[in-house]
Amino acid sequence: MKKLIIFVLCLLAYIGTFSNTSSANDKKVGVMFDERFLLHDTGPNHPENPDRLISVVRDLKNNNQISLKIIWPNFEAATFDELNLVHTKEYIELVGRQVRQLKNNRAYLSTGDTPISKHSNVVAKLAVGAGLEAADQIMAGEISSAFALVRPPGHHATASKGMGFCIYNSIAVVARYLQSKYQIKKVAIIDFDVHHGNGTQEIFYNDNSIAYASAHEFPLFPGTGAEDETGVGNIFNAPIKSGTEGTEYLKIFENKIIQPLDKFKPEVILISAGFDAHFRDPLANINLESTDYFKITKKITKLANTHSKGRIISFFEGGYDLQALSESIKEHLIALNK
Ligand SMILES: [Zn+2]
Repeated sequence: MKKLIIFVLCLLAYIGTFSNTSSANDKKVGVMFDERFLLHDTGPNHPENPDRLISVVRDLKNNNQISLKIIWPNFEAATFDELNLVHTKEYIELVGRQVRQLKNNRAYLSTGDTPISKHSNVVAKLAVGAGLEAADQIMAGEISSAFALVRPPGHHATASKGMGFCIYNSIAVVARYLQSKYQIKKVAIIDFDVHHGNGTQEIFYNDNSIAYASAHEFPLFPGTGAEDETGVGNIFNAPIKSGTEGTEYLKIFENKIIQPLDKFKPEVILISAGFDAHFRDPLANINLESTDYFKITKKITKLANTHSKGRIISFFEGGYDLQALSESIKEHLIALNK
């Protein structure tokens, strides 16, 4: 009898190993992209421009050298109620009104340094909608992870204020959506954009159901993100000195970002993926190489596999050198895909 039980246990373990291997082979990343993202016109010579997406999409669609398993799902713009999960009614109305009343081709949002043009409101709502669809597909098990290849970015937008090239805080809306629609209790937001995500931090500063962990150059725009900004024990800031190289950065990332989130045990992980800590980037001074984004992302996928059933939704934020973007996003996707 004992022998029979041992045999059955071994058989079950064997089947378990086999099915794990099989599901790992089935991993697909949803890349959420819509050509309408190119319609958000920020004017000539603005660093946050449509070219940032054009070269990345062209590379991903043409590249035969890497065997990425990507699908390209469709999605709709976020509704008022979805935006209102985070943003105030007054702010949503203000964006709509200021875009409608544009007299020239472009202006700046009255709340901060974000250019707007006639399609900006619908494009910004579509960027949020990309994340919402990714959330639905991941919760339905249709994709294993997602990369929202969107613009404008979102992590500087607060509940009532657009700034720093951002209109709506897409990642914050998706965190709230996961909680309200799927009863997810704990969401971690990891922000490796070189700038601190002041908007995301402010929105969740007193909410211990959301952990926000950011590695960013400090001091730098927007000025927030000191290590002693800790919220209710849910905010983890890793300020990084100008000139820091990859090896040192990865050490800090492990100790100040991954370790605390390992204790937090998130059910889903969201990433504010900016690639402006790259050494080629014109807006900051951290010296990461493209391959460092593979290493950063692998640390996050390991965390997600331990606590979050591998569920990751990554949102494109900053990054302003086209070559650095193409290379680094590819590294990010390869790591998400493994
Ligand atoms: Zn940035």
